[in-house]
Amino acid sequence: MTDFLTDALTLLADESAPLLSRLAMCTEETAARMNITSRKTLCEIVFYHVADSLSLVGDVRGARRVCDVGTGGGFPGLVLAALCPDTQFTLMDATQKKVAAIAKTAETLGLKNVRALCARAEEAGRAAEREQYDVVVSRALAALPMLSELCLPLVRVGGKFVAMKGPRAAEELCEARPILAKFFVGEPVVRREVLSGADFLSLAHAPNEEERAALESFCAMERLTLIFDKKRPTPPKYPRPFSKIARGGV
Ligand code: SAH
Repeated sequence: MTDFLTDALTLLADESAPLLSRLAMCTEETAARMNITSRKTLCEIVFYHVADSLSLVGDVRGARRVCDVGTGGGFPGLVLAALCPDTQFTLMDATQKKVAAIAKTAETLGLKNVRALCARAEEAGRAAEREQYDVVVSRALAALPMLSELCLPLVRVGGKFVAMKGPRAAEELCEARPILAKFFVGEPVVRREVLSGADFLSLAHAPNEEERAALESFCAMERLTLIFDKKRPTPPKYPRPFSKIARGGV
């Protein structure tokens, strides 16, 4: 069990806290104008997006290049970029308007280490982005069998793929074993994370009753981070076209 709050709170106690608050406020502003995330209130954004993303700081710190695949409104990528200024982040999403919103937020916050890239992961993984990243991270993009094929081709040999997962992680891992075998990827390190809500309230407006109940269940949700080491190059056959990946099979 890793209490990532110990790490996160150290960060929040220093000069990163105002930057993360501004990130949450920028996201709130953008979410009010366009549909980049279903989480709309500042309080929700602080918990579901900012706090949750903090669990990966230790995985990307020290990396040269990181890619967040299916970054959506910019999570976890923007939070990690704000906290790791010496690492270059590519925030990849298939939807142009989300990518444009992320680029604008990064500019507003003065994050010089963010490249917002509109691309489909399965296409990027066959082209210029293939095996370019020390670490590839992803949250809420797809179940592990599909996610592995979208993300692993982007990881350089010797790098890692970090998947943020919920309570179905063990089942998804079983389902992903055939494709992971094709990628010569062994068992992941599995990290169980805890999120203690009260510690983040200073970053959000005081939640109302309804929000508080939702936050409590969110904080109580089981969250598992799966960390895969990539030891061998991705076979040329992968990633396959999306229709093939979606059909299942290997
Ligand atoms: N990571 C964010 C968003 C998750 S929603 C979060 O946790 O909040 C999934 C996102 O993945 C959407 O924004 C969608 O546009 C993007 N996406 C879906 N398929 C993709 C693909 N094949 N390549 C790149 N992005 C994709």
